[in-house]
Amino acid sequence: MKYCSLGNRSKHVTFREALLKGIAEDGTLFVPESIPRLDNEKLESFTGLSFSEIAGIILEKFLDDDFNHREIELLVKEAFNFDCKLVNIQPDVWALELFHGPTLAFKDFGARLLAQVLGRLTDSHYRNITILVATSGDTGSAVAHAFYSISGIQVVILYPSGKVSVLQEKQMASLGGNIHALRIDGNFDDCQRLVKEAFSDPELREELFLTSANSINVARWIAQTVYYAYAWSRLPERKQVIFSVPSGNFGNLSAGVLAKKMGIPVSAFAASTNVNDVVPAYLRSRVYLPRPSQSTISNAMDVGNPNNFPRLLHLYENDWNKISGEVKGFSFSDEATRQAIKTLYTDYGYLADPHSAIGWLGLRHLLYNNPGSTGVFLATAHPAKFTEVVEPVIGSSIPLPYQLEILKSKPVVSKLLSPHYNELKAFLLAC
Ligand SMILES: *Cc1c(COP(=O)(O)O)cnc(C)c1O
Repeated sequence: MKYCSLGNRSKHVTFREALLKGIAEDGTLFVPESIPRLDNEKLESFTGLSFSEIAGIILEKFLDDDFNHREIELLVKEAFNFDCKLVNIQPDVWALELFHGPTLAFKDFGARLLAQVLGRLTDSHYRNITILVATSGDTGSAVAHAFYSISGIQVVILYPSGKVSVLQEKQMASLGGNIHALRIDGNFDDCQRLVKEAFSDPELREELFLTSANSINVARWIAQTVYYAYAWSRLPERKQVIFSVPSGNFGNLSAGVLAKKMGIPVSAFAASTNVNDVVPAYLRSRVYLPRPSQSTISNAMDVGNPNNFPRLLHLYENDWNKISGEVKGFSFSDEATRQAIKTLYTDYGYLADPHSAIGWLGLRHLLYNNPGSTGVFLATAHPAKFTEVVEPVIGSSIPLPYQLEILKSKPVVSKLLSPHYNELKAFLLAC
């Protein structure tokens, strides 16, 4: 499989090149040059296979240019070394729990696959890669854990000082080794600006091989197709399956659509968002109008200009009629989100974080319009990551899973930098 950019479909690059560049020279996203197909026999065989076996079959179709069969088997085992659970909530309603990885959010799937492929590709070609990420929380911790102790790769994470939660900071900044956490005396925008300046500094790029690990990276994207196939294979009733995806940058939902185009039989998707409803508004009105994001209790989805949206459009040939026929948009307030957390807990005994609760709400609407379907909503974060929202709503405390429990005693090892580029540059050159 070769890759091309959305801006130039005729120029093909290898997976390695798409991976290392992150974004194409024309500023658009990389996509596979064609969509690989899974035939019916293969699909039926998934019902008897493990998560890693399914992952191996799917990802081989995307990675076959750079890795052989055996290497792919090994790297998916290493990447997806935690549970993916499909939990029944109501008759016809299932939660696909994607939060059992080391940082308790679905981003572990993409970040860990990225770390595995990058770790293997660098061995032979680019020694000493430096990954630079700006984060307001979740991405930084997933990337930090995924790359911890992978040789030949240094990870530098910039986060705004005092603006991430105590546990989030510990998730990013307690590892040490090849993970360097920088507390920036500024806000998230300062962190992003510093990263941009570094990427456009020719002097720095001469010294260091810099790459990014953000959500437009093609390895993170393709990793997310696997759990749609897995969920489908585990459902007792597979005639008419619909998925609801709590969405921010729309990497996750567009990976679901990619899985469908590969052959996983999905009849509809819900694009479920908080009040940052740029995509639901587009699906309703044909008008795509990015705007500054608003803060909500489902903060990982506070996105006003979703960076993976071009991939979603591409999968529907940029045709509004096609996309709006299959993807329905739903947007929910914080109030509705809190109410959903409460209903799920009291009526169904299910504990959901705010993002997953939005997934469930969207699924209910989609099921209403598609009676007789089997519905799956993606549960994207563990509720213990959002105790300050969830505990007051349910009126009791949530036990910490071991991934968070062990952090309590760990010291934060981060370095405070001013928001001036020269300081970051000096740090990078020395690290
Ligand atoms: C990142 C994130 C999302 C949004 O996923 P996208 O792929 O950006 O749409 C949803 N829920 C949680 C918990 C997240 O961390």
